[in-house]
Amino acid sequence: MIAARDLHKRFGDTKAVNGLSFDVSKGEIFGIVGPDGAGKSTLLRLISGILEITSGSIEVMGMDVSRDRYRIRENLAYMPQKFGLYEDLTVAENILFFGRLFGLSRRQILQRVPALYNFSRLEPFADRLAGKLSGGMKQKLGLACCLVHSPGLILLDEPTNGVDPVSRREFWKILYDLLADGVTIVVTTAYLDEAERCNRVAMMHNGTFITRGTPAEIKSSIGGTMLEIKTDNVWDCGNYLEASGRFKNIIREGTSLMVFVAARDRGIRDIKKILAGKNIRVHRISESAPSLENCFMQITSPGRE
Ligand code: ADP
Repeated sequence: MIAARDLHKRFGDTKAVNGLSFDVSKGEIFGIVGPDGAGKSTLLRLISGILEITSGSIEVMGMDVSRDRYRIRENLAYMPQKFGLYEDLTVAENILFFGRLFGLSRRQILQRVPALYNFSRLEPFADRLAGKLSGGMKQKLGLACCLVHSPGLILLDEPTNGVDPVSRREFWKILYDLLADGVTIVVTTAYLDEAERCNRVAMMHNGTFITRGTPAEIKSSIGGTMLEIKTDNVWDCGNYLEASGRFKNIIREGTSLMVFVAARDRGIRDIKKILAGKNIRVHRISESAPSLENCFMQITSPGRE
């Protein structure tokens, strides 16, 4: 569906996208995660043909984005972070308006509306002004408006940013329903738990993918072992471990500390030695499965291995 080769985008001295090569297959949901400024939005804009690439190439549905962007757009939806809903139009009017922008007739749009209402569950709110919708509902309406022309490829830029957790779950349910209909989705997110739901994930940092693969592949590529230290003094315990300079990255999670070590038994021995005589009560040190968030922190942390 997408084939990018040595893709670059510069803004002056800023290398927003810095030599990316990747493929996205039909029917998959490909997640791009990374901190602010990583280059995620720029990448989506390049795929959608809104921005000119600086060098390299990008094909979408077998067509060159630089040459065939208008043909590609007939089958593509791009939902930017700030989607331009008309707040003083109703839900139904917004859908009609965006359908006309895509060049559809009123009749074609009305034929499509039941499917849009069906997945977005917005029908009961058809006559409500868009400006009066909750954040989650606005995002669903934005998505519905992007999908009036039944695109095969959907690009979503942080669609659940600032949306409450229940609405986020609902939004992801919609994405899965769309996938079941055979569309391809590329979604950027700052939420690592959302990345876990993608078929494949790329972690983006400074314009490049620092790692990519299925969530399981990324976790196994980290190497070493993550240890969970259960203690009632997470803060001081973390400080002692940090001060030792032995560990690259110590993650505090509630009543636990997560630490990556090269080898399990040696790691446990080292931790016990560092904490000996420090008046820290450790209940348990055990091996734990890292989340994608743990992996991302580990990969991006400077310092020791
Ligand atoms: P993200 O979506 O991951 O937050 P962006 O793609 O928005 O990252 O930005 C990547 C980098 O490119 C940032 O340093 C940003 O300031 C810069 N950038 C993005 N768009 C522009 C632009 N239109 N003009 C100049 N710099 C830009």
